[in-house]
Amino acid sequence: MALDSAWSREWMRRAADVISENRAELGALDREIGDGDHGENLERGFHAVLEKIGALDGDATPGAVLKAAAMALVSTVGGASGPLYGTALLKAADAAGDAASLDSAAVVAVITAARDGVVLRGKAESGDKTMVDAWTPAVDAAGKASEAGKSPAEVLRAAADAAAAGAKATEPLVARKGRASYLGERAIGHRDPGAQSTSLLLAAAADAAEAGTGGAEAGAGAADASEAD
Ligand code: ADP
Ligand code: MG
Repeated sequence: MALDSAWSREWMRRAADVISENRAELGALDREIGDGDHGENLERGFHAVLEKIGALDGDATPGAVLKAAAMALVSTVGGASGPLYGTALLKAADAAGDAASLDSAAVVAVITAARDGVVLRGKAESGDKTMVDAWTPAVDAAGKASEAGKSPAEVLRAAADAAAAGAKATEPLVARKGRASYLGERAIGHRDPGAQSTSLLLAAAADAAEAGTGGAEAGAGAADASEAD
């Protein structure tokens, strides 16, 4: 589908679903190198996101949807990830502006703004074993895909795949930010939960974009995903 209002709602709906499906796994990752609440934090947050965007006008722009989602996350998610994802989506909303739909360059701008929001808020650098290690490869891959003339959906898929690889690549790292940084070398061998959730959220964005396109990726069952709500 075009990356329009319906896509942005579908992204958030799929994000809520994938977070719920992976709540236990995210909790387990966070139990290994944090306090175990990352899955529940995000499940609560995305539940609130769906309520909040359900109250928007049907034709709310992607920017308006992302802004409402940001507000819901900030007000319901405790812990580090609430303000981080809230800032990410708020900056993403600013980058989307009042466009009715996003082209490939706009997708890159949105993902870049989200990553910059996380960095602004959390001051982590690449290699610190945080969600930045998923966001930054996503930004780089999205930029390359856009420059190569790929469609918005392809740009999102490239970003999601790079984020997944980035999340996996946090496993051998020592953490330098967040709770995991208290563990020193004991964090080695464990995947960062926030990097993992970032890869799930970007995969949800790509899945939403591929739904209803009739392309190879849009399998059976994707048809009803193209409805606005
Ligand atoms: P908390 O650590 O407060 O319990 P969560 O468990 O919800 O919060 O989120 C933990 C995740 O937040 C980490 O896995 C990491 O990806 C991310 N994180 C923590 N601190 C930072 C930071 N300064 N910059 C970027 N990401 C961070
Ligand atoms: Mg935690």
